[in-house]
Amino acid sequence: MLLINDPDTLTHWLSALMLLTATLTFVATSFITAPYGRYSTSKGWGPLLPARVSWMVMESPNLWVPIVLHLLRADTLLSHLVNRILISLFFVHYVHRAVLFPLRMPESSPMPLSVCALAVLYCLWNACLQSLHLMVVRRYAEDWLCDLRFILGTIIFLVGMAVNIHADYSLMRLRASRKGYFVPTGGLFDYVSCANYAGEILEWTGYALATWSLPGLAFAVYTFSNLAPRAQRHHRWYIQNFKDYPIQRKALIPFIW
Ligand code: NDP
Repeated sequence: MLLINDPDTLTHWLSALMLLTATLTFVATSFITAPYGRYSTSKGWGPLLPARVSWMVMESPNLWVPIVLHLLRADTLLSHLVNRILISLFFVHYVHRAVLFPLRMPESSPMPLSVCALAVLYCLWNACLQSLHLMVVRRYAEDWLCDLRFILGTIIFLVGMAVNIHADYSLMRLRASRKGYFVPTGGLFDYVSCANYAGEILEWTGYALATWSLPGLAFAVYTFSNLAPRAQRHHRWYIQNFKDYPIQRKALIPFIW
């Protein structure tokens, strides 16, 4: 109760907990692959839900939490330009992820209820954390617009978003063209197996830099911890399933890993 009245301390603890969870997630997902997409199974993970519905449900807190917070509190920091820009980066990403991405998605593998439920919990947690930070806790002065961290961070975020969306739509086109899985090509896919994950990680790294905050850092670290082991797993899967898979292609970071 005390923490709810002290959003500054609350965001601090929520961020610290996210950093700790990121470490545990990295270790766990290095051994256990989340059973959705090409690894989808209901065995031990509960009933399967259609992919489109799952994506909409699990990502939706990232949209409705900031909206509800704005409606509940008359005095949010959204009257400040930089706060408005930063929350817009977060919000625009999730308009795509929670609405446009699932709506345009061709038929994809179903997702177990337990995976969807865990994702809802994480998205609720992160949406509360980022919204509290940008709408209640930290007021960014207008001169932050000229700060190199804001400028570089925003550019990195936008580049990451372009890479992520381009890669997601390339995969969708592949999936829509024929049934099954194919070797993706074009854009960052010519260098890495998981261009969409690379773009996503770049986005939240840019956001962490642009917000220069513990909540931003925690979110970026968590995203990496969640996606890097899965990228490694996807990479191995491509090599095992396609005899002529391009040998120079890395898993996630061009030329390196
Ligand atoms: P995947 O790359 O595993 O799959 C994306 C879509 O493309 C699915 O519809 C999939 O079908 C299809 N697909 C994938 N590879 C191929 C292929 N080789 N040939 C044909 N179709 C293919 O990504 P995710 O589903 O894990 O993630 C989707 C988006 O969500 C990404 O942009 C990712 O960055 C983001 N995300 C972000 C997370 C975060 O922590 N911030 C966590 C998880 C995802 P199918 O489902 O049938 O395999």
